Amino acid sequence: MSVYDKYEAVIGLECHIQLLTKTKMYSNDIAEYGALPNTNVSVISLGHPGTLPKVNKSAIEFAVKLGLAVNANIREENQFARKNYFYADLPKGYQITQDKTPICNGGFINYKLKDEEKRVNLTRIHMEEDAGKSMHDVDPFHTLVDLNRAGTPLLEIVTEPDLRTGEEAYAYLNEVRKLVRYLEICDGNMEEGSLRCDANISVRIKGAKEYGKKVEVKNMNSFRNVQRAIDFEIKRQIDLIEKGEPIAVETRSFDAVDGSTFSLRSKESANDYRYFPEPDLQPVFVTQDYIAKVKSVLPVLPSQLFEIYTKQYGLSEYDAFQLTELKEIAFYYNEIVKHTSNHKSAANWLMGTIKSFLNERALTIKEFTLAPVKIAEIIKLIDDGKVSNTAAATKLFPELINQPSKTAEEIAIKLDLIQNSDSGELQKFVDEVLNKFPEKVTEYKGGKVGLLGMFVGEVMKASKGKADPKLLNQLVKQSLENKN
Ligand code: ADP
Ligand code: MG
Repeated sequence: MSVYDKYEAVIGLECHIQLLTKTKMYSNDIAEYGALPNTNVSVISLGHPGTLPKVNKSAIEFAVKLGLAVNANIREENQFARKNYFYADLPKGYQITQDKTPICNGGFINYKLKDEEKRVNLTRIHMEEDAGKSMHDVDPFHTLVDLNRAGTPLLEIVTEPDLRTGEEAYAYLNEVRKLVRYLEICDGNMEEGSLRCDANISVRIKGAKEYGKKVEVKNMNSFRNVQRAIDFEIKRQIDLIEKGEPIAVETRSFDAVDGSTFSLRSKESANDYRYFPEPDLQPVFVTQDYIAKVKSVLPVLPSQLFEIYTKQYGLSEYDAFQLTELKEIAFYYNEIVKHTSNHKSAANWLMGTIKSFLNERALTIKEFTLAPVKIAEIIKLIDDGKVSNTAAATKLFPELINQPSKTAEEIAIKLDLIQNSDSGELQKFVDEVLNKFPEKVTEYKGGKVGLLGMFVGEVMKASKGKADPKLLNQLVKQSLENKN
């Protein structure tokens, strides 16, 4: 047993998600990513004296959606607070956030790790505005400031310290991203900064009741890097404890190049933000009626689809997980199974042939033009024994993409893929073959049953490859038995 096995890590995550509202949190400025610097600004986001903020209704709706999706308690009276600090990209000198009255309290997010269902409890979700962006690496001598992001709406999701490994944190983040994408409240793009995450990490001897001293790590730009930062930090802290050295309560930054963390600032010198109630905004009241209205338009969630796929459609958990990973894939699947009851085959087509087709062309499912009903048509042809699986995947499917206005059956006929499943006609071929090889028939009847394959092959040849293999097998066996 290594010394590391004596310890367990305790991890809590703070995620910021940037909301897909058209305008900013407290002004009418456009909230879009990638516009020319400092074009989406107004006197409000520039913090001119005497200007007044107002709350973006869509941001409230998005917060309520997320709250409902994670089973949180949604607060009725929401106050806003000022968080004061000085920085070049914060023209007002404060951020408007929610301090003591987060819009959501409690709730949880379930996620899967290696087939095991796990749960992270949430502490709170609150609304706030983003700061602008300081760019230190564009100009060699100056820091440049882009205030387009100043005032864009964020939700901060704070977890309880329920996570224990970097791997769990990774899986949880994946679930958060999936959820906000299904809800259409955030694009979940960590590379572009629309989903950001800080990790709080401590370690303790396994079984200990008290938590250890925690370190906060910032500046990870991918889920993988969150996991790396956590793994590094766990080891660093255990090594310190084993050497008898104290853990400094501090904020650290992640260095993606070598996977290490380094100290940014100690918590003792942390800012005192002097929170106080925002005097320019009335509290926002979220009524039960309003919550019910939002609930009635809540989109389907991945966990609900997972239930349907496994319980109603009888798919394996693996299949259901793969299908629900991306909303667009799940929705395409839902469309196929409106037209076929062969749920398993629909899943196989989507995750097999269609996915390979898209991967080979670097396309996403959104760019896939073939209507889902066509896949159901293909499945029907196979299930009716009219087209073989292989012919469907290699010939029918690609041709159908070229001629999407035709039905699958029309294409199958045109490409001459229809199998012969007329037993009368097939029987003629079988009889011919059996008459052609009388001594083989005797050998077969004498116990050499391995010859069945030879007969089947010959009949298939005679039918020019168009016999339905299942029916053919059956006919050959029967005819051999009846032959004397
Ligand atoms: P702070 O006062 O530093 O903001 P909070 O109590 O607000 O700390 O918690 C911030 C985050 O840190 C939460 O996600 C919480 O679950 C997590 N956290 C709190 N204590 C610990 C700990 N001892 N080890 C790891 N994470 C912790
Ligand atoms: Mg805190």
